[in-house]
Amino acid sequence: MSSECRNRFATLAVHAGAVADPVTGARVTPLYLSNGFAFETPEAAADIFALRKSGFSYARGGNPTGAVLEKRIATLEGGTNAVAIASGQSALLVILLTLLKSGDEYVSANRLFGGSLGLMRRLEERHDLKVTFANPLDLAEFETAVTPRTRAIVIESIINPSGEVVDLEAISAIAKAHNIPLVVDNTLATPYLIRPIEHGADIVFHSLSKFIGGHGQVIGGIIVDAGKFNWAGDVRYPLISEPWEDYGGVVLAEKFPQTAFGVASRVYGMRDLGPGLSPFNAFLALTGTETLHLRMPRHVANAQAVAQHLANHPAITAVSYPGLEAHPNHPLVKRYTPEGPGAVFTATLKGGEEAAKRLISSLKIVSHLANIGETRSLIIHPATTTHKNMPPEDRLAAGVGPDVVRLSIGLEDPADLIADFDQALKA
Ligand SMILES: *Cc1c(COP(=O)(O)O)cnc(C)c1O
Repeated sequence: MSSECRNRFATLAVHAGAVADPVTGARVTPLYLSNGFAFETPEAAADIFALRKSGFSYARGGNPTGAVLEKRIATLEGGTNAVAIASGQSALLVILLTLLKSGDEYVSANRLFGGSLGLMRRLEERHDLKVTFANPLDLAEFETAVTPRTRAIVIESIINPSGEVVDLEAISAIAKAHNIPLVVDNTLATPYLIRPIEHGADIVFHSLSKFIGGHGQVIGGIIVDAGKFNWAGDVRYPLISEPWEDYGGVVLAEKFPQTAFGVASRVYGMRDLGPGLSPFNAFLALTGTETLHLRMPRHVANAQAVAQHLANHPAITAVSYPGLEAHPNHPLVKRYTPEGPGAVFTATLKGGEEAAKRLISSLKIVSHLANIGETRSLIIHPATTTHKNMPPEDRLAAGVGPDVVRLSIGLEDPADLIADFDQALKA
């Protein structure tokens, strides 16, 4: 990527969507802790309620602090609009419920964040949203999983926890051949490393709780609408293509052709279902976004250094990080994320589960935590925690057997991290 483009990203990360407050002059986007917003006239109130005019009414549907975050992330991702939401998990939930109704089918990568897999299984059991899982790194398998009944495809751009990069353009071609939207979880990449819309994604979502928030403080999520899918007249997606009778018969695909999916996920997801992002968490996520372009290169460089060191360590049999040149996924790294595949990966211990647990207990700088994507380096044993509820054979397929630890490499000095691993692996 040219330095001009990179400059642009940095400038947008600091500024997009925000101006000095026109009333007070406050330069930082204020934390608007108000759940109601005064209407100018009764007519204006009616117009806002009926979606004839945009504006804030009641903060369940959106608030001014979150709106700046929405504009900023939509800009960084190259989307037309975004919806800030309570968590990454609720972002996926609202996307699925906006696209599908009971009885509908979709295809998902079988290698995803454990919480996404659990949500999908429960939505199928309890609400009949039928999911077919396929390996996103095996394009032939993925292609046969998609049928004329498939309504959407869901993948991660960089897979949690292995760090492997998915061939977004090949999967987008499958989605386009079936005229269905491609949904990409871009949490591990962030828009700094990969912008899935440039590779054919129709809907992108994030857990803001990870690298975007970046400091281990917030739980949050965001949905970004590329504005490219043609929903108009498509009866497979009635929430977007058919009239909303209680909103004066508005058809979102016609009234909002560039932002129809975002509007549908706001009106159904926020107003009806209600999992909004609090202004306070939006404020913290916005602060995190302003240094994303500085933090990500350091995360990646540290991850590369630690992965390289562990790959050569006699106590380690495998390191999943595809930033390593010998890794079979390395060509996709070069193509989609030349700066590196993020900072989350797994390592397999020669001494099995016992050695994995001993390593976790012996580390002094690296913390034993369930989250990923923050300033501190983190480690966990997925088989007994994040991926515990999977059948053992699925766990092996997801690359998280009993001898595996998941790492999220932070912003410390890499020499100190390497020394910490060395002393802990000796133990
Ligand atoms: C953490 C995570 C989620 C869920 O996000 P929460 O904010 O924890 O609800 C979804 N996808 C990926 C890839 C994640 O790492």
